[in-house]
Amino acid sequence: MKLILLGAPGAGKGTIAKLLFAIDGSVQISTGDILRGAVEAGGEFGARVHARISRGELVEDELIMELMESRLQQPDCADGFLLDGFPRTIPQAEALEALLAKIRVRLDMVVNLELSEQLILQRLTTRRTCENPDCQAIYNVLSKPPKAQGICDICGSKVVQRDDETEAAIQQRLRTYAEKTAPLIDFYQKTGLLLRVGAEDSEKVVTAVRARLRQNA
Ligand code: AMP
Repeated sequence: MKLILLGAPGAGKGTIAKLLFAIDGSVQISTGDILRGAVEAGGEFGARVHARISRGELVEDELIMELMESRLQQPDCADGFLLDGFPRTIPQAEALEALLAKIRVRLDMVVNLELSEQLILQRLTTRRTCENPDCQAIYNVLSKPPKAQGICDICGSKVVQRDDETEAAIQQRLRTYAEKTAPLIDFYQKTGLLLRVGAEDSEKVVTAVRARLRQNA
């Protein structure tokens, strides 16, 4: 599968990517995870990225494209990739189009995960994440708490609230989404690749994606 997962923060892009990965091994590429890795690594660059992420602002398009240009040409992408959180602006989508044409790769589908603002807010404020950068398992204090409070079931590291999941940062992320990312829905509608799907139930999303892939095959 060569897919883009679109949707507001909290719509469940990461969760869906993990479910799709389990089907055929298409790699999940999350720009958010890559950037959090850079923050973890520290230095001046990490500090600059951290300042933006923690305010709920986007990182510069040029920087994201530099990262993605090399990431998409790594061998593990040859059989499939799931883009989670990228592209996030029209300039990124245009640059991605040019990049894919250059490396002769065709996208199968762009999936837009649709969820009400009320559910998005609820999901984001109750979400918790494993702090181990190699794990980053996602939990939810209401619907999927870790077995031992505050400890990751998978790797035993601490499970924490991301610092961009405070009330103020969430509000800013949603404003940024509406202004910069929502226009991508129209952009991809015009390409004929867009699948719009309600994101309340992750299993249903996966079923809809697989049905569309079969239809297109
Ligand atoms: P995410 O985990 O996808 O919600 O991303 C967390 C944060 O990383 C975002 O709020 C942005 O600050 C930054 N980020 C992730 N992906 C991108 C992108 N494609 N372009 C710009 N900034 C990004």
